[in-house]
Amino acid sequence: MSQFLRNWKEFDIQDITRHLLILGDLSGDCANCRELGIDTWKALECPKCHTKFKFIASRRSADHPGERFQLARRMSEGRRDLMVVDYDDYHRTIGGQKARDFFKS
Ligand SMILES: [Zn+2]
Repeated sequence: MSQFLRNWKEFDIQDITRHLLILGDLSGDCANCRELGIDTWKALECPKCHTKFKFIASRRSADHPGERFQLARRMSEGRRDLMVVDYDDYHRTIGGQKARDFFKS
């Protein structure tokens, strides 16, 4: 019986941003150029900036932690070609980086 467990791996956060498809309630958006309305289950690349998607995350998992594993399974089964990353982790890291950049300037 296989189950989902979260694991830890080091990523280049800019590489994630460049190739991340963010799953919304009905469609997806591109983390690279913020294009909306992308077909989450079919799009291989962003229709606007043409970045190739390599990662997928669900914004919903942050607001509905109880659905996190269900969402991970849905994304993993729906997009076997993409690596599922945790949106909360990604968002926190990006937020921290933006804050550091802000205080630097
Ligand atoms: Zn894009």
